[in-house]
Amino acid sequence: MQKTTTHNDIPTPRENPEETKVREAKLDSLYSNLPTSLLATLLNAGIFTVALWPVSNRNLLILWLSLNLIIVLFRLATYNRFKKAETPIANWGFWNRTFHLGLLFSGLVWGTGAGYFFPPSSFLYQAFIFVILGGMTVGSMAVNVATPTGFYTYSALLTFPVSLRCALQGTTIHFAIAGMVLVFYCFTFIVSKRMHSMMDSSIRLRYKNIGLISHLVHEQKKSSQLVVSLEKEIHERATIEENLRQSEYQFRTLTETTSSGIFIIQNERILYINNAGEKIIGYSKDQLKTISFLKLVHPDHRDMVRKRAVSRMSGDESVPSRYEFKLLGKYNKSIWVDYTGTSMQYNGKPALLGTVVDITQRKAAQNKLQELATTDSLTGLNNRRSFRDQAKACITQAKRYNRPLSLILLDVDRFKAINDTYGHDVGDKVLRRLAHLCGNNMRSIDVVGRIGGEEFAMLMPETALEQAKVVAERLRTSVANHEFSLDLDTKEVLGLTISLGVAELANGENLDDLLKAADHALYQAKKLGRDRVEVSFRPASQKNAVADG
Ligand code: GH3
Ligand code: MG
Ligand code: MG
Repeated sequence: MQKTTTHNDIPTPRENPEETKVREAKLDSLYSNLPTSLLATLLNAGIFTVALWPVSNRNLLILWLSLNLIIVLFRLATYNRFKKAETPIANWGFWNRTFHLGLLFSGLVWGTGAGYFFPPSSFLYQAFIFVILGGMTVGSMAVNVATPTGFYTYSALLTFPVSLRCALQGTTIHFAIAGMVLVFYCFTFIVSKRMHSMMDSSIRLRYKNIGLISHLVHEQKKSSQLVVSLEKEIHERATIEENLRQSEYQFRTLTETTSSGIFIIQNERILYINNAGEKIIGYSKDQLKTISFLKLVHPDHRDMVRKRAVSRMSGDESVPSRYEFKLLGKYNKSIWVDYTGTSMQYNGKPALLGTVVDITQRKAAQNKLQELATTDSLTGLNNRRSFRDQAKACITQAKRYNRPLSLILLDVDRFKAINDTYGHDVGDKVLRRLAHLCGNNMRSIDVVGRIGGEEFAMLMPETALEQAKVVAERLRTSVANHEFSLDLDTKEVLGLTISLGVAELANGENLDDLLKAADHALYQAKKLGRDRVEVSFRPASQKNAVADG
């Protein structure tokens, strides 16, 4: 029972897992059939003893039965240990040898017993012995399919001694019986070999099937794992899509219901604009897609917006993210917007996300307020406060660059009388006209304001005292020569005169000093008879100091 395969009972250990499996299955088959065959052996031994009791030596018969019992108990104990062993295949050699030893002992006891107790005189008893041995041979063939060698040995031990004993009887019929038993032995030999071969291939087939089945089970497990991970992925995707849908819905609701215009710009093209944006600019979304964004910015602010947008998109955080500028809407309508912008990535490229709030009305109101705060409502000239603010700024400039600056103060002569004679409305009209004349005589860089009831002030940057005096004189003359119309229907006119005081800014002076100097000159003009220009002369050192800086 050593090396090779099917001719031997149980293959010897090999690395081949298939062989190990075959060996294990055969060992299992031998031991699992053991209790049945032991029971049959014991029953047969009992029947044998009882049957041959009358014709045999009883003591030897009891001894034979006892030997049988010992062997059966020994084999039963082996069976028990085998069943308790965790991995009997690991001790395959031991279990195989033990089983065959039990079989060998059993065969020896039965063979010698049957041969010894073979009764020469009674043919009936002889027939009984052949029947019982034949039955045991067939039984052994069935339960020992896994070990043909074991079976050949066992059945040979069982049948050969009794056949020899039978042949030794010397009669023809006994020879015939012995010959028939040999034929029977040969027959069982062939059948046993075939049964073993069938068993072997059936075990191998089962092993291969097991391999196949375990492979299939493994594949099934793998595929079910795949299905699970696919399901998980699908679920995750569905969740992501749902979240996306939700956030898109929220985004749409937010952007389409807000009053602020929201847009995304890339390469000057408007990729997205909400309803409010469309409404503010006045063009439809489709029209907007074809217009460059910068064309929608008022030309006054286009360059500023372009530069800031470029800087923002290149990551320059110093550029303000919020500022005001004018859009150029449909029909060239100017729209003031409060803009907030931030850079973003759109389709993997830099883009600009902007929001605009229409502040055109607010701007108009602001401008109106500004105008009201700085303008004299009667004449449209700067009011006292605005005049002072602008004058201060001019004085600061003049001082910084060491440039000359002069001031003319003007007061209408005997204006009270005009009011008294023609009424306050006429007085107002005269004042408006006078303001117009003042404006006409001044340059755009000069600051003209109405600083009192019928008092006006003119600040002239880049102008020295002498030049200022010339301007004052020119103004005086033009007023004196002007005919102030009282009524368009009657063509009634009146004449009036003005007195003027002129002063130039001296070193270290502020606006109030300058106003004081000019006022003093004006007072002198009034004192010296009105309709004249008087100049405030300061010590030469003071003036020179200005000129020298
Ligand atoms: P003078 O300056 O030559 O000494 O004489 P005057 O009559 O002009 O005297 P004063 O400067 O004191 O008078 C100013 C007058 O101007 C008094 C006031 O009734 C009048 N007046 C001041 N503000 C207004 C105005 O807004 N409208 C009209 N109609 N009159 C004004
Ligand atoms: Mg006055
Ligand atoms: Mg006056």
